[in-house]
Amino acid sequence: MNLPECVEVATGSAPVGSVIWLHGLGADGHDFEPIVPELRLPQDLPLRFVFPHAPIRPVTINGGMHMRAWYDIVSLDSEGRADADGVRESTAILEGLIAREIERGIAAEKIVIAGFSMGGAIAIHTALHTSHQLAGLMALSTYLAIPDEVETSSGSRELPVFMAHGRVDPVVPPEGGAQADTRRLFSFALGALKTVSDRPVDARLRTLLELRALEALGLCPELRRCVRCGEDVGVRAGDVRFRVADGGPVCAGCAPPAEGFLPVQLGTLRSLEQGLHFELDQLHRLVLSPQILAEARGLVTRFQRFHVGVELRSERFLDEMLGSAGFRAT
Ligand SMILES: [Zn+2]
Repeated sequence: MNLPECVEVATGSAPVGSVIWLHGLGADGHDFEPIVPELRLPQDLPLRFVFPHAPIRPVTINGGMHMRAWYDIVSLDSEGRADADGVRESTAILEGLIAREIERGIAAEKIVIAGFSMGGAIAIHTALHTSHQLAGLMALSTYLAIPDEVETSSGSRELPVFMAHGRVDPVVPPEGGAQADTRRLFSFALGALKTVSDRPVDARLRTLLELRALEALGLCPELRRCVRCGEDVGVRAGDVRFRVADGGPVCAGCAPPAEGFLPVQLGTLRSLEQGLHFELDQLHRLVLSPQILAEARGLVTRFQRFHVGVELRSERFLDEMLGSAGFRAT
């Protein structure tokens, strides 16, 4: 078989293992090359990264344009998005790359196969059908290319698997699919429009609506459990430390006091949690004390800036207005 050209990066001489990593649609083998130094692999674990270039072919969903692709994508719905022959051909290519690593002295159980998007779909399909006992599968932002051909081969039975997916991925929707996302956003937009047309939006209502918007986007903060150990943070007395970057509270047992934490009262988290359970047109009934409101406002605003990267244009104006009423977020 003709194996594709590959970008290769070795992190030391005499590699003891290999990672074969397949890129996504329209990219090439260089796409994930910069990640290797970021992994800060230990000196005593020299690895060979193999990043193959996909063949160039016309891609139907891109108007038949020629680009690097592991298979043709015929449509964007979950059934029939992949051309099955192309998937099988690229699976054979990946099997060929595995065989070549074995010839180069890397045992199958020291080989990880990995892929992003359509590259991940090939990695999964290969893992499900290979007879090799591999070291692992890493599948990023991807899906089953041929859902009807899911079998567990002898090689896949004990295989360690890591899968991850961006929660607001606009290209390949995470599990649940684009339709569920659209329905959730639609019902939020409808409810929010009604709520804001019925009454003036004060700081309290605005904070709760922003929280609900984050929820509708699939970006809701964790409000009850430590994001590191999963323990209910209400079990311990005292203030809770919320870590915006981690998406929720971190208990004292999991992290020593350090910078980057937002101290909040437990009552603030509980109030926000209630705000998630009210019907949108009942949100205005939720009573918040001035201190809880100020904390909740600060938490939601920071969370939004960090995770959505959006500073609402009206924010400063509202802060000035509401600040004069003593609700300024700190
Ligand atoms: Zn913890």
